[in-house]
Amino acid sequence: MASASTTAAAIIDAEAIHRALEQGRSPDAAQVREILARGRQLGGLEAGEVAALAGISDPELLGELFESARQVKQAIYGRRLVIFAPLYVSNLCANECAYCAFRARNTGMRRRALTRGEIARETLELVRRGHKRVLLVAGESYPREGFRYVLDAIATVYATREGRGEIRRINVNVAPLSVEEFRDLKAAGIGTYQLFQETYHRETYARVHLAGPKRDYDWRVTAMDRAMQAGIDDVGVGVLFGLFDWRFEVLALMQHAAWLERAYGTGPHTISVPRLEPAAGSDLAAQPPFPVSDVDFRKIVAILRLAVPYTGIIMSTRETPNIRRETFSLGVSQISAGSRTSPGGYAEGESESGSDECGQFSLGDHRPLDEVVRSIAELGYIPSFCTACYRLGRTGRDFMDLARPGEIRHHCDPNALATFLEYLEDYASPATRAAGLALIDRLMSEMEPQGRQIAERLLAAVRAGQRDVFV
Ligand code: SAM
Ligand code: SF4
Repeated sequence: MASASTTAAAIIDAEAIHRALEQGRSPDAAQVREILARGRQLGGLEAGEVAALAGISDPELLGELFESARQVKQAIYGRRLVIFAPLYVSNLCANECAYCAFRARNTGMRRRALTRGEIARETLELVRRGHKRVLLVAGESYPREGFRYVLDAIATVYATREGRGEIRRINVNVAPLSVEEFRDLKAAGIGTYQLFQETYHRETYARVHLAGPKRDYDWRVTAMDRAMQAGIDDVGVGVLFGLFDWRFEVLALMQHAAWLERAYGTGPHTISVPRLEPAAGSDLAAQPPFPVSDVDFRKIVAILRLAVPYTGIIMSTRETPNIRRETFSLGVSQISAGSRTSPGGYAEGESESGSDECGQFSLGDHRPLDEVVRSIAELGYIPSFCTACYRLGRTGRDFMDLARPGEIRHHCDPNALATFLEYLEDYASPATRAAGLALIDRLMSEMEPQGRQIAERLLAAVRAGQRDVFV
């Protein structure tokens, strides 16, 4: 067990990463195939193996990497894609992150922290569209009440309901907290605590974080330790790709995950893979110092899928519908949909140009939730609004114990189908409903008996008017 004063050096060893990358620079084909075969056994990969996969450039081997990732994704996650929406409550920020429109010195941005009434209005908008999961996001500066502002915002979201609509799980992406604050966050009933290191490369970190509390690399990289010590066992890590060499970042993510596993018995619940997008008033965002090509981006997703098979991968609407589609099969398990990145953006809409003027960065996918759901269903994926694990206390190690032997599938597939049917009955347009019902019929006929029996029971309950049924 790590002590309350875990140091960054215990988590990230940059020298070891450079050494592994040097050794993995040009792996031979036999070596790569051996690593891929190991990855397909669902046991994860070591740092040296990840470095070798990062070094692949031969198109044939690349194809084999993608195919291996597809097999792992299919074996563990089947055809489910969990859906959520970000809820930006405030863009007040004391930091000077060179890539972000919310940074303090960007005076061109209208600043606001939503009031409780405004948060309830935003929540209602999301509920009326059919969302069940939100990711609450804020800049690093709170109104007068300090961090309590975030706790109140969470309480407001959970308390806002309409008819059958409600938000059932709130994940949170806010600046690093103290152990005491993390305890309050847990008591507020959050799902996952998410925080992206942005870059694990210390020098780059110092170069792009110019002022404010976020300059402290160590405080940020040890945040998950404090969260775990406060009893939050579902944490989500991430990197802002484009700031430094993606190969270094992927190995650092592996080190971070391995540390959490070693110290607390459970690795991260999710990994997010945001790529740097243009942001108002940011030259750095317009010209990323280490741009990640689309091929490399797919490679990142595929490598992560093999390296940490049971960790969810989150893909946001920063990416275009095309890239999102391509990465679903490679390993993505959660996506946001119909997103706005400005406080008040759901109830107040966006400008005619489609740009979110108070938004944090530009989006690649502007489609409304209904359209995203339809297109996912047409591709054969089940859009899932499931929140069962969190509500049954299946978090952290308990979740992994169920996930590892593959048992989780018998829960997830029926739960996904039941929440999908809820969506189709309560919110979908006629075209989406038709596509969705056809998909449910097809998947039910293909399901193995154990899962099908459970699914039939849950679907019958939803058809009979029950809501929020799960196993
Ligand atoms: N303010 C908190 C922080 O920085 O940790 C939490 C919320 S911040 C609004 C959420 C994330 O947005 C950041 O961690 C960063 O990775 C991402 N972000 C900032 N600027 C971005 C940009 N130009 N393109 C893509 N993602 C960006
Ligand atoms: Fe503030 Fe977060 Fe944007 Fe940095 S990334 S300027 S901390 S909102």
